[in-house]
Amino acid sequence: MEKIPRQKMPVQDAKERIKNFSSVALGYSEEQAVLEARRCIQCKKPACIGGCPVEVDIPGFIKKIAEKNFAEAIKILKNKNNLPAICGRVCPQETQCEIKCVLAKKGEPVAIGRLERFAADWEIEQSSEFRVQSSEKKLRTMNYELRTKIAVAGSGPAGLTCAADLAKIGYDVTIFESLHETGGVLMYGIPEFRLPKKTVKIEIDYIKSLGVNIKTNILVGKTKTVQELFDEGFKAIFVGTGAGLPQFLGIPGENLNRIYSANEFLTRANLMKAYKFPEYDTPIDIGKRVAVIGAGNVAMDAARVSLRLGADEVLIVYRRTEKEMPARLEEIENAKEEGVKLHLLTAPIRFIGDENNNVTGMECLKMELGEPDSSGRRRPVPIKNSEFKFDVDTVVMAIGQSPNPLLPKTIQGLQVGKHGNIITDEKTGATSIAGIFAGGDIATGASTIIEAMGAGKRASRAIDEYIKNLKI
Ligand code: FAD
Ligand code: SF4
Repeated sequence: MEKIPRQKMPVQDAKERIKNFSSVALGYSEEQAVLEARRCIQCKKPACIGGCPVEVDIPGFIKKIAEKNFAEAIKILKNKNNLPAICGRVCPQETQCEIKCVLAKKGEPVAIGRLERFAADWEIEQSSEFRVQSSEKKLRTMNYELRTKIAVAGSGPAGLTCAADLAKIGYDVTIFESLHETGGVLMYGIPEFRLPKKTVKIEIDYIKSLGVNIKTNILVGKTKTVQELFDEGFKAIFVGTGAGLPQFLGIPGENLNRIYSANEFLTRANLMKAYKFPEYDTPIDIGKRVAVIGAGNVAMDAARVSLRLGADEVLIVYRRTEKEMPARLEEIENAKEEGVKLHLLTAPIRFIGDENNNVTGMECLKMELGEPDSSGRRRPVPIKNSEFKFDVDTVVMAIGQSPNPLLPKTIQGLQVGKHGNIITDEKTGATSIAGIFAGGDIATGASTIIEAMGAGKRASRAIDEYIKNLKI
């Protein structure tokens, strides 16, 4: 049989795309999708499924694409994944399902994520009636008026998944979100050129079409306490409030002007649309030489947004080597193509400012790699007397985020870990308090979209069990 090569993702040219916020990856054509789907050998024991935290029937949906039955492909996908257009764009498939694909051994796994995106985008192009009809509702035969009420705090991927899966089996679910927009990091963190907000809104509309109510501008713990929610008749609560608390290095000069947390920087750019200034009234004071500290997805996003906002030079400053960079491979490659420079084996030790308190430079130490640490990656070790300085006029700190502390602090008796994360049973999301479940970044610390969705799914099953045991 003729060997079909892995299909390349068409992308916007690097020189052009740094001048706009439109999608970088353009998506497979129908012809490419069918060819790529035909590469799947339909394993009898498909290892790929084991790599998917939401248990998508991967060979099942791929087979339908190969047969050009796209309507059936999206139905199979949505049976397990409520956010396929989002996951198809930003899931780290290379370390999840694709790494487990048998064809990965030869270095060319089936492009599962790109096929997922193709099927989801195909559905989006159909009429909205078609979209609603194709969603699989499994409403139990229960009295609609007497359905059990479940509350969800936070509308990121964990909360959305938990809510959608509970609504599908007949619960009356309300999501309470503190911001004015729904979607969590999908909306305020990940930039438009990787994840268009229109796509996020379409998938959220699908979740609403399942019957999920969404109430924005409600900070659970402040506007409404968890006890008040129970008093209003909610029988269980899922907490999916994420990890939005920025971490800092704790070194001198960190309070200088034009040193941003990535969280603030990206929220201003994405949610408050700073890139459309003055049409939107959100300026970002950005200089010409930007240093982004860190090398995860957040750092890559901050670096690429900086370029698009007009910086001449953007440097990623990271204390390990490129091999250890935690960002998705595709994002690192895209960032390098766009001109982002990597300053590796480098750790800042102080920021330097001028008389107006604006940052003007950084002092750093050179590092080398030592023995592996608890994460399995080789530990960066400072090289003695290797201090050096360089000029920068903007710094973005992207070294990690901690769980949002507000809500856990207001729940008496809730067990919380040393990093402020809610302690849960990994399989069920159960917390130390009966009826309160949690999952996603609030429990694990900053992780990935699909891990948060997996936690939401597991918690939805556990909540269903919990409610059945209450014998309401
Ligand atoms: P979140 O998405 O953080 O959502 C939590 C929601 O809860 C927010 O909307 C917040 O406003 C709300 N909230 C907080 N407190 C309260 C309260 N008290 N009451 C009501 N609502 C509240 N992962 C990937 O897999 N691929 C990527 O490419 C990727 N890129 C990323 C880029 C950036 C810039 C960032 C920041 C993260 C990225 N991640 C990526 C990580 C991923 O987005 C997160 O792991 C995921 O969003 C966690 O989902 P969550 O539902 O737990 O929390
Ligand atoms: Fe197809 Fe790869 Fe999954 Fe096998 S492991 S079924 S080849 S996607």
